[in-house]
This record gives sequence, C-alpha cells and structure tokens, in this order.
Amino acid sequence: MNIPFVDLKAQYLRIRPEVDAAIARVLSEAAFIGGSHVKAFEEAFATYCGVQHCVGVGNGTDAITIALRGLGIGPGDEVITAANSFIASAEAISNAGARVVFADVGAESYTLDPARVEAAITPRTRAILVVHLYGQPAQMDALLELGRARGLHVIEDAAQAHGAEWQGRPVGSLGSVACFSFYPGKNLGAYGDGGAIVTDDAELADRVRMLANHGRVSKYDHGCEGFNSRLDGIQAAILFVKLACLDRWNRERNVAAARYDELLRDTRVVTPARLAGAQHVFHLYVVRVPERDRIRAALAEQGIEVGVHYPIALPNLSAYRYLGHAPSDFPVATHCSGEILSLPIFPELSEEQIAEVCGALRRLL
Ligand SMILES: *Cc1c(COP(=O)(O)O)cnc(C)c1O
Repeated sequence: MNIPFVDLKAQYLRIRPEVDAAIARVLSEAAFIGGSHVKAFEEAFATYCGVQHCVGVGNGTDAITIALRGLGIGPGDEVITAANSFIASAEAISNAGARVVFADVGAESYTLDPARVEAAITPRTRAILVVHLYGQPAQMDALLELGRARGLHVIEDAAQAHGAEWQGRPVGSLGSVACFSFYPGKNLGAYGDGGAIVTDDAELADRVRMLANHGRVSKYDHGCEGFNSRLDGIQAAILFVKLACLDRWNRERNVAAARYDELLRDTRVVTPARLAGAQHVFHLYVVRVPERDRIRAALAEQGIEVGVHYPIALPNLSAYRYLGHAPSDFPVATHCSGEILSLPIFPELSEEQIAEVCGALRRLL
C-alpha cells in the first residue's frame, strides 16, 4: 500500500462543490486583489483567533517580516528564535534587517527553551519570535513572562499551528502579534501562497496593512516604502470555505495521532509529548527513532512517504555560517535533527494506513 505524506487531493474532494463555487464567484466578480472575499476571510480569521484584526499578506514569511517592520524592528536590533524550525522564521528576521539570534529548544517540546532564550538576551534584543512547531504551542507562560519582564515583544510564528490552543486561548492571541502561513500543506492551506498577520493592536494592524501594500495611504500616496505582499481574492475565498472545516480536520489529526501513540507504545519509537496546557493540532507527527536514515529509506522503499523536519538545525545551515556557531552550541536541536522522523499525517489518513505505517516501523526496529 502506498501511503502519501499528505493528501491534498483527498481533502479537495471533500469540499469540492463549495470550493469550486467560491472560486467561480471571485472570477465572476473579478475581485482578484483586495475586495469583499479578502475582507470576509480577514474578519472570520480574526474572530477564529480571538483577536480584533487580521491583515492578509502574500505568504507566511512576509507575514513575519512585515510584522517585525510594523513593530519598528530592523537594523541594529536582535530577534531571538528557535534553533529548530523552518528557515522562514530566521530568514524573515534577516529580511526585516535585524540580526537572528538562535536559542536551543526543549528535548520534549521541540520548541524554544525559555532558559536558553533568557541566556541569549542582550541589550539589543527587541523580540522573541516563538515558533509553535509541529502544531503544538510553545511554553507560552514562561516566554510571555520573560517578554514582560525584559520589555520584549513576543511574536508568534503560528505557521504550523492554526487552531492550536494554550490554556484554552487560541494561538494568534497570545503575543503582541502573530503570523500565519496558508501554504497548501499547512493545517489551513490555500491553493497557492498566502499568509496573515493577526493582532489586537489597532495601530499595528494599520501599519502592517500599509507596509504590505507599498506603504500606501491612498491610491498614489505612499507614507513609506513597503512590500507588495497581499492575500489574493481567490485564495481568500478558498480559505473562507476551509476555515469552517478546520476544527473538524484538527480533531481528525488528533485521532490519527492518538492511534499512532497507541500502536507505537512499547517500541523504541519516541512518540510526541503533549505539554500540559497545550492543545496540539498535529501539523506534523514527529517521532524519534534510532538509525533514522536507514529507517527512513526502508519506509520509502515500501511506499511509505515520511519526512524530516528538519534534517539540519538552523544554526548549522551554510546560510548561518556567518554567525560562527558550532553544532555543540545547540546540543538539543543538533541531536534531535539526527533522530526525528515525521510520519504521514492528514485528516483523511485512515486507521488501516496508520496500522500499516506502525507495522512497518515495528518490523524495521
Ligand atoms: C511554512 C512556515 C513558514 C513560512 O510560510 P510560507 O507561507 O511558506 O512563507 C514560517 N514558519 C514556519 C514554522 C513554517 O512552517
């Protein structure tokens, strides 16, 4: 049996009539950039995140860059982020003109270790960019407290965590501002690129809206140079349809995760920990296994698609050689990068498929 890592076609088939009708409406109205579909989605997504404002942008990376710029963070400033994440988290900090400072992650949570963040703070630090990696909120109590105590913005990179909660509060409503990606494979994915910035701060919302649209204050009046980074009408209309399904899909991901936990109990596979207070949405189901590369290759040979998120910790990438780090500076992220393995997970994943993956893993171990 071939088991894909994600199955976006299966998801489309569940919502095809609604999506096709939504796209047709945008086409017939020619509401391609801005317009009623973008506005409707922005309002719905702000409500979903429990905040006042949502600004649609071109992608999740831009969302972070523009949020940083909106907070006045740029050259001369430092922003701390996680040593284990997708490069976009760090890249966005550099794109804003600030300096990336990495902090190691926890061995159970895979998210920022508050003690390591504290140790990385300097007089130039302006913000902590917290990544809710794999779909689980980071340890927000300690990180928010640290931000408060040291006068730092806490920015959420929620690109992998749409719908996750920390102590009953949705991600997106926890920090000064939060950034989402709607890349197709995310828990809430468009059919192309898309992103959003959400916040309760009305002035910040106005600033990021202006920045994302060429610094525009009116058609040909520009208050500053900005970006061309907008959510388009077709994507917004698709996202509006899909947002109504998100909670159900996240529950289905949790059912799949619980089934994996059960079938992998009493093996050498280290299954994902759930932090107390966190409601995980399993964007990824990441285990740790010995001899990861052998197992990964053997699973692939049997038609089971798996992934590694991420095989090289960010500070160890060539892109960050200029920071002059050694892998031993980030022992947890570096160690985990050699053991982590992402098993197939998506809402439509069947019990049979999960059993097949777990059976194959047990045989290989
Ligand atoms: C996907 C992702 C991003 C970037 O989103 P894009 O829409 O691809 O630019 C940022 N951070 C994390 C953690 C991501 O997984």
